[in-house]
Amino acid sequence: MQFHLNGFRPGDPDLKEAAPRDARPLDVLIVGAGPAGLTLAAYLSGFPEIRTAIVERRSGPMEKGQADGVSCRSMEMFQCFGFAERVMREAYWVNEATFWKPDPDAPDRIVRTGRVQDVEDGLSEMPHVILNQARVHDMYLDVMRSSPTRLEPLYGRSVTGLEVEDDAVSVTLDHAGRAESVRARYVVGCDGARSTVRGAIGRKLVGQAAHQAWGVMDLLLDTDFPDIRFKSLIQSADEGTVLVIPREGGYLVRLYVELDALNPEERVSHRNLEVTDLISAANRILAPYSIEAAEVVWWSVYEIGQRMTDAFDDAAGGDDRAPRVFIAGDACHTHSPKAGQGMNVSMGDGFNLAWKLVSVLRGQADPSLLKSYSRERRAVAKALIDFDEEWARLMSAPPGSRSQSKLQHYFAQHGRYTAGVSVRYEPSDVILADDAAPLARGFSTGMRLHSAPVIRLADGRPMQIGHVQRTDARWLLLAFAPAGPPSAQRDALARLCDALACEGGLLDAITPEGADIDAALDVRAVLQCHHTELAITDMPRLLFPRKGRLGLRDYEKVFCPDPRAGDIFEMRGLDREAGCMVLVRPDQYVAGVLPLGDVARLSTFLTGILTG
Ligand code: FAD
Repeated sequence: MQFHLNGFRPGDPDLKEAAPRDARPLDVLIVGAGPAGLTLAAYLSGFPEIRTAIVERRSGPMEKGQADGVSCRSMEMFQCFGFAERVMREAYWVNEATFWKPDPDAPDRIVRTGRVQDVEDGLSEMPHVILNQARVHDMYLDVMRSSPTRLEPLYGRSVTGLEVEDDAVSVTLDHAGRAESVRARYVVGCDGARSTVRGAIGRKLVGQAAHQAWGVMDLLLDTDFPDIRFKSLIQSADEGTVLVIPREGGYLVRLYVELDALNPEERVSHRNLEVTDLISAANRILAPYSIEAAEVVWWSVYEIGQRMTDAFDDAAGGDDRAPRVFIAGDACHTHSPKAGQGMNVSMGDGFNLAWKLVSVLRGQADPSLLKSYSRERRAVAKALIDFDEEWARLMSAPPGSRSQSKLQHYFAQHGRYTAGVSVRYEPSDVILADDAAPLARGFSTGMRLHSAPVIRLADGRPMQIGHVQRTDARWLLLAFAPAGPPSAQRDALARLCDALACEGGLLDAITPEGADIDAALDVRAVLQCHHTELAITDMPRLLFPRKGRLGLRDYEKVFCPDPRAGDIFEMRGLDREAGCMVLVRPDQYVAGVLPLGDVARLSTFLTGILTG
């Protein structure tokens, strides 16, 4: 963690200096303080030059219920926000999953039939964890409170309508029965499955309901079921399916319980189900084991439905206009909770949109950049819905059927998917074509930067290369040095740095006037030699730059392999002879792999997005 750049400040470095408040017009209005809205709000809160407001219909922060699965990919994103360690400390870690089925000799009793590792080795440096959505909200709220803008949700305000004008959006709100109106340059509807914003821009959720009722309950309980602290999928012969999700704190457990199939016109609310119905159903499925609830913390019943909208913004198809209104999270895609993706994909939407809005609002990118949000995130939602349909179908398949026996296999096969690391954005104006892939076989263009261990040159600290990114909307260029004596590696990097930082070069073109040299593109390097073979003072200026008000040197831009944890050149299939450059977007996705000297292509690509 770097701080004191602009002079010594005592106290908690996470608590940023508050920016003066002003009465400029609103840049971004976020509607809804769920996972999607809070991800976006927490990101924007770090930029005092952008005026953001977030309104929420509820009267205060959420306390319990709803989603709880946090994928490895979301943890990587939390690392960028700076609270992954807190989540790791507090959450339940999903290490293994177990599978239970009817005993072939006594089908009214369940037996354990399988046990699988939850996340394959090396998939991410982050674990798959379970933590209540309300606590995830709290983490974001803490980031916002400590940010320069001290952003807080405005609770008790419900958006009732909006109108898109030429240069802004006019929004009407209900605040304790009083109508209010606000104008903002951009509006983002993160207002859940019954989104008002979605309706106001004429988008509709389209898809299917599976007519299958499910119950979910968070319990403190007493049980003789031996796998209650494992994620367990239990399929009974005739009574349906239970999914056990152990929860944070060591005592709390969530049970998803399959209830009856619904008639085509029937809603689950018509059944007037009580939590006692859910507990009875769970006991029938778990026989010969049983549960006894000591405290019901939260419960709900719902129907599975997979739906999405045809676009995630207000720019109609074929229309060249840049969007003004966006929808994110459940407002534009809904799916069953059992694949554990609802919160994760919603946060991913917010993260994708955040850096694009920052770049546009700071005047560093053209508003047309915003069109990529709907295109990229709709493809992710579509893949999720396809996965979820298959998963829900297998879970509700009749006992003994072929589909039911495929469940364990499907779970293991799709581990990367549920870990959230299989998202791949297609080549576009924000993703390069994948033609230099052999230079870095372990970094896939369009996919998230798969972090690897390194040692920092200046202080010998072992760390993860991916952890250098922060929620600051900067692009990252990782330059991997070619083989050779240490001085030759340094010289190869120096030539690259000269080409990047020369007068009229790429950094000149994209770095805002008067800003630090790494304000738009953060160039970092990884050498192949041992970290004792070179000193940070040997490095070119761009890799040891002067920054900030006091012109202090940045010591944290150069790394070497960590032989004890694994050599990053081996682990990520990097071409040792040639070296290469890996360009990473502000949202941790690899925008492209390039030959080490190809500054011309890098410049053409980046100046097509960033204007400086
Ligand atoms: P939400 O979390 O729904 O947040 C939307 C927010 O917008 C809400 O806080 C809402 O109050 C606010 N809002 C709505 N309309 C307005 C308005 N007009 N003006 C201002 N604010 C507004 N997922 C699981 O994985 N497991 C579960 O067990 C599970 N259970 C769920 C139970 C319920 C009752 C619900 C609603 C969802 C559940 N989900 C579950 C889904 C999961 O919570 C969502 O996928 C995830 O929260 C989506 O995040 P979001 O930010 O898009 O929307």
